[in-house]
Amino acid sequence: MAYSNEVRDSFSKELDGIREAGLFKEERWIKSPQAADIEVEFPAGAEGKKVINFCANNYLGLSNHPDVVEAARIGLGTRGYGLSSVRFICGTQDIHGHLEHRLTEFLGTEDTLLFPSCMDANAGVFEAILGDQDIMIADRLVHASIVDGMRLCKAMRDTYKHSNMEHLEEKLQDHQDKRIRLIITDGVFSMDGDLAKLDEIVALAEKYDAMVFVDDSHASGFIGKTGRGTHEHCGVLSQIDIITTTLGKALGGASGGCVSGRKELVELCRQRARPYLFSNTVAPVIVSGAIKVLDLVSATTERRDKLEWNTKFWRDGLVKMGLDIKAGDSPIVPVMLYNAKLAQDMARDLYEEGIYVVGFFFPVVAKGQARIRTQLSAAHDQHHLEKGLEAFAKVADKYGILGKSKKEIKEMYGL
Ligand SMILES: *Cc1c(COP(=O)(O)O)cnc(C)c1O
Repeated sequence: MAYSNEVRDSFSKELDGIREAGLFKEERWIKSPQAADIEVEFPAGAEGKKVINFCANNYLGLSNHPDVVEAARIGLGTRGYGLSSVRFICGTQDIHGHLEHRLTEFLGTEDTLLFPSCMDANAGVFEAILGDQDIMIADRLVHASIVDGMRLCKAMRDTYKHSNMEHLEEKLQDHQDKRIRLIITDGVFSMDGDLAKLDEIVALAEKYDAMVFVDDSHASGFIGKTGRGTHEHCGVLSQIDIITTTLGKALGGASGGCVSGRKELVELCRQRARPYLFSNTVAPVIVSGAIKVLDLVSATTERRDKLEWNTKFWRDGLVKMGLDIKAGDSPIVPVMLYNAKLAQDMARDLYEEGIYVVGFFFPVVAKGQARIRTQLSAAHDQHHLEKGLEAFAKVADKYGILGKSKKEIKEMYGL
């Protein structure tokens, strides 16, 4: 056996190292559908506890919407459970085409290609369209899946400081000798909830003859007046060359992703993107559910408007009680605690109070930037938010940080 005791010990030590560094991740088992009110089993096997969820990407509350569930059921009944094929062999049904068409309309692009996930879309898109005479210039805080996708592509790579337009401009000047310049950014950055300055990015792209790529996973469905995304919010709706996004967050929350944008670029992905060519097609239940999601988000802005209201109520409440949050309008609301242990301890106490939140610390965020990231949903009603605020006030008071500045929190708890 090659898996000798020595090999086993060395892997065990690595795991111990992860534990000792306080970075070990444990799953919590949810015994109910995704919603504002969920029942959680933690640790696994323990008795279920009813908590209010403040850490899902269920921004529009559609993860268990009855119409979406019913549409998924119809998809299951009429198109079956699975296709046992990749798309280009015998894995494309009419509904895949319909969904791609609907996404194109919603995102305001020219064409769309579905992927099993946005992680897969990002893994495939760069390699499919760029070669070794081209340069990818990415914001330093882009999502891990973009970093991986860039690694798989033979084009040259560079980065610019997070949302720093002067730095991006310098880089664009530096790379004028390349064949294609592709600026790469998230639309909404998941850890701080801040929006990319897409209007300025598009202007720079025009000035320096570059293309623009946006991953709008934390925006599609609810950012912008009609929820189309960060490009709508920034007034550059038809000017983004490539958008990738997920169906796994606001748009139903099941799974699936896409590349959407210029017709030729999407077609190149259909010909070459490896996760599209070599991974199974998105299941009919999900496709059918996602079409219903697009019906719902296209018919009314009620859910995104409620989310906006909830976000404002929550942000105002946290600021009023004297907690330090990252400013902005997005439903990602990080409560800054700076110290990793404090973030973990408070998240645990909040859980005891019936509030499900998670502490984030290095390496997910920079050292000394630990936080509890809260996320709002249109599924929250005012009583959920009030109970959440009450619990935050109680727990923050226990740790003596109400009204305390960043400097004071750092003095009390260190880093
Ligand atoms: C969540 C997320 C992804 C991954 O999406 P999946 O469809 O779950 O693979 C990719 N990019 C960004 C920016 C994300 O937030």
